[in-house]
Amino acid sequence: MGARHFAAAIAALAATAALAQGHPPLKARLAPVHVSPRAWYVQGLPGAASAANEAFNSNAGFVVTDEGVVVVDALGSPALGNELLEAIRKVTAKPVRRVIVTHYHADHFYGLKPLKDAGAEIWAHRGSLDYLTNGEAQRRREQRARDLFPWVDAQTPLVHADRWLDGDEAFTLGGVRFEVQHFGPAHSPEDLVVVVPQEGVVFSGDILFTGRVPFVGTADSKAWLARIGRLIDLKPTFMVTGHGEVSTDPGRDLALTRDYLVFLRAEMGRAVADFVPFEDAYRRTDWSRYASLPAFEAANRVNAYGTYLLMERESLGQ
Ligand SMILES: [Zn+2]
Repeated sequence: MGARHFAAAIAALAATAALAQGHPPLKARLAPVHVSPRAWYVQGLPGAASAANEAFNSNAGFVVTDEGVVVVDALGSPALGNELLEAIRKVTAKPVRRVIVTHYHADHFYGLKPLKDAGAEIWAHRGSLDYLTNGEAQRRREQRARDLFPWVDAQTPLVHADRWLDGDEAFTLGGVRFEVQHFGPAHSPEDLVVVVPQEGVVFSGDILFTGRVPFVGTADSKAWLARIGRLIDLKPTFMVTGHGEVSTDPGRDLALTRDYLVFLRAEMGRAVADFVPFEDAYRRTDWSRYASLPAFEAANRVNAYGTYLLMERESLGQ
């Protein structure tokens, strides 16, 4: 068999394997970006998750220690979780020992199954359990299955953590110290931030978005703003965020998320104080400074509405 035929046969085999897992082969290429001596990440495509981008819109990080790999987040589908595992194997043959889920949003944990099957222990904050058990996680999966098929379907496993953290937790693996800090409630009640001091790296999850409109939804933006200050105080050299490029100037990049939250709260807060209905308030607000950013169309209205309801609750002292 000639080299070309051999390559074609291998490609056909890969396609057959992917089909056996219930999806066509991924077009997305997960190229690990080297951040510091032991830290890498893969960067999702800009904007919201879609069938077109194969649900690859979020980042995942990993740190290679002498005794194995610690992964932060698992991407947005089982196929992507599998691809992440392959990407890690291009960097190291060491086993994946642990996955820390920064928060239980679909685009960060639907890829857990292949990592768990590879022997990794999953850690997350106990605050995620509410979402997983109150029906919301199932409703979200139905929506994702409609929008992201075949990458997500009704059978996509909602993998629980093996260990639910109640607060901060530090551990050392293969000579590398990891500090897992509970930052929630901010972007979600359960936000975890992973600090790797000797690498100067912080994995911030979705507390910081770079290069796109953040997803706010029903988040408590008041608490979130307070936590952004705490992130700036960590003074990392590199901040690997949940979406977008790694930040080498976290102070500057945190400003976009902070300013957007401040703007949403000011505009929606004024509307609530003046008894302006949401539809009118949304239409009258000048969104021009954010309208050209990726994910604006997908996220801004939901963010504004969530903030409007939040400002109502805050105005009632709830
Ligand atoms: Zn999120």
